Amino acid sequence: MARKDYYAIGVDLGGTNIAAGIVDSTGKVLLREKIPTMVALGGNTVLSRLALVITLLFKKASPSVKNKIKGIGVGIPGMVEHEKGIVHEPPNIPALNGVNVKKFIQQRFKKPAFIANDANAHALGEHTFGAGKGTRNMVCITLGTGLGGGIILNGKLFTGSFETAGELGHIVIRKEGIPCNCGNRGCVEAYVGANFIAERARKAIKAGTKSSVTKLVNGDLSLITPHLLEKAARKGDRYALQLWTEIGKEIGTAIVSIANILGPEKVVVGGGVSRAGSILFKPMIKEFKKRSYRYLRTRVKIVPAKLRDDAGILGSSSLVFKQN
Ligand SMILES: [Zn+2]
Repeated sequence: MARKDYYAIGVDLGGTNIAAGIVDSTGKVLLREKIPTMVALGGNTVLSRLALVITLLFKKASPSVKNKIKGIGVGIPGMVEHEKGIVHEPPNIPALNGVNVKKFIQQRFKKPAFIANDANAHALGEHTFGAGKGTRNMVCITLGTGLGGGIILNGKLFTGSFETAGELGHIVIRKEGIPCNCGNRGCVEAYVGANFIAERARKAIKAGTKSSVTKLVNGDLSLITPHLLEKAARKGDRYALQLWTEIGKEIGTAIVSIANILGPEKVVVGGGVSRAGSILFKPMIKEFKKRSYRYLRTRVKIVPAKLRDDAGILGSSSLVFKQN
């Protein structure tokens, strides 16, 4: 991509923190800010925190950069009407339900604003700057609290008729499986979301399974996290390794459906839980190859995401770069 002579602000509005940065067209983050979201204080507080983080960036920027900021992109968990900029049912920020975030930012900063679901923004970011660069069709899976998804078709973010497309976490992998927050049962997210992974380990250990992770949390099972389970697995803990294998297989099973429906060149897998690396990717790819059409087996590539800590900021900034 030829370097464009302007900048974008990317904001990652999460339930705990708001992270934001000024990004150039090559995906370099020039300046960054991070402040607590303060969800408990209500919707107006969240909006004023959002405005504050953007104001801080404008203040920090040199005049030459400031004058070339073309727009502001914001990624938010939940369903987003992209054109209008209205947020629906954000799971961790309920006070923003029905709020027009786009209008708010445009009026406040007199700049074009673009709002998207955070996993959709991540997908666009990987397509613009990361592991999906150069692909025509790709899918991005974000493994975190849940399993977020984003679909790029013909180089563009596909959001469907109701701007809700890409909810890949709700691909059913077990017909009579455990209930999911969406109202369905057996969704892949209900097995591989960060909290569910920890809960699976807790249940198994309570039922008598031996694992070195018990020692890592000094017997307080409430402290188990995917990160600690990864640590245990790397040190050869049999239970933790087996759990990651199961999780990999479950995600691999969902990817088979994605590949069959969309036939993308790449499925990019990112987010905090994906940092488990090969102990997750190996069983995931193996299961995908086992279940998929032979024709697709070598064609659809499953690869780790490239945007790591800045995925949120870069993804949101790509909403601006893709428009111009
Ligand atoms: Zn579901």
